[in-house]
Parts: sequence; C-alpha cells; structure tokens
Amino acid sequence: MTAAWVLTALAFAGAIAGIFLFASRRLSDHLAAAGGGLLFGIAVFWLVPEMKSVAGWTALAATALAYVLIAGLDRLLMHTGHSPRQGVLAPLLIATAAHSFIDGWSVRALGRQPVTDVAVTLGLALHKIPEGAALGWVAQQGLRSRSTAVLASFAVEAVTLVGAAIEPTADRSGMAKFGPWWTVGILAVISGSFIFLAIHAIVPEWKRPTVVLAFLAPLLVIGGISTLRLFTI
Ligand SMILES: [Zn+2]
Repeated sequence: MTAAWVLTALAFAGAIAGIFLFASRRLSDHLAAAGGGLLFGIAVFWLVPEMKSVAGWTALAATALAYVLIAGLDRLLMHTGHSPRQGVLAPLLIATAAHSFIDGWSVRALGRQPVTDVAVTLGLALHKIPEGAALGWVAQQGLRSRSTAVLASFAVEAVTLVGAAIEPTADRSGMAKFGPWWTVGILAVISGSFIFLAIHAIVPEWKRPTVVLAFLAPLLVIGGISTLRLFTI
C-alpha cells in the first residue's frame, strides 16, 4: 500500500505544479517518456511472457483486446472535444479516475512479485507527476478556479488508493472463482494499460530525439535485464 500512497502523493504534487506553477512541458514530456519506456519494457519482457506461459497465444490476444478497449475508452471519453471547456472536463476526469484505479491496482498486484516491484513502482511514479500536472492544468482551464481544480484533481488521483486498497480482496475472490485465468485477465489489463501509456507518451513526441532517448534508455535496460535472466535461470 505504501507504493500506492507514494504514487498518489506524486500525482498530487504534479497537479499542484500544473495548477499553480508554470509546469515545464519539457520536463513533463521527458518524465512521461521515461516512465512509458519502463512500463512498456515491463509489459513486453515480463508480463506478456508470464501470461503466455500460462495461457499460450490467448494471452497475446487478451493483451491486444485490453489495449483496444483502453484506447477506445480513452478516445471516447477524452477526445470528444479539442479544448478542455466545461462539459469536456467531466469525461476527462472520469477517464483519469478509471486510469488511476488501474495504476493503484497494478502497483499493488505487481508489488508482490520480487522482480517487478521496484521497476513497476518506478515506472508508475515517473508517469504520475506529468499525469497529475496535465490533469491539474486542464482542470484549472476548465473550472476557472484554482481551489476547485485542486479538489477535482486530488479526488480523481485519490482513486489510485481505492484501486490499491481493494486489489488483495478482489484478487483472492477472483482467484477462487476463475483460477489462473483470473491472473491472465488481470495481467492482460495491466499490460494493455502499460502499452497504452507508453504509446501515448512517445508517439506524439517521436520527432524529439531527447524524448525518444528518455523512452528507449529504460526500455533497453529492462530488455537487457530480462535477456540476462533468460541465461541465468
Ligand atoms: Zn496513471
């Protein structure tokens, strides 16, 4: 649960920066890219192979399906308008709350595994600051009041704690009902959301070499570590 509190605190700090300070877009983009690279590496090199060992090719199909659903939901909720005015803000807040729920769930679920705990926490921590800053900025533009924007951003990011809090109980009853398929389904959703975050962070920025480098460096580290593990286990 500690990791979930850390993530939420970072998102709060990001939101404050987005609302009250001139949040540095340069720094935000680089942090988001580094977090994206790390999470993408975790999904591709650890989570998907682990699912594949249980469920074979179904695991890949489940991950692809989770990605399409998450991306579709994002498109439906967040891109209904081009400027963050009233009316467009509500779907954005709902989408970010749903997303934060998965963040909290992921950090708790993967925090139990000795290999992924540090990397997942770091990857999610890196993306929480720019996520909070973007949310705070947009909320302030839409609500036209700093205090309301702070409240709205905090409420939305606090859903991270809800996801983390219910994960152990939900996981136990899910395992009891569905067995290993439950884990495959959960890992598919987590991988789909990590891949979505990564693509979201890097695709619009692919022409900026330093952002691409911030994305590739952690991805190569994760790739390197998992290749080494293949030879040592
Ligand atoms: Zn997030």
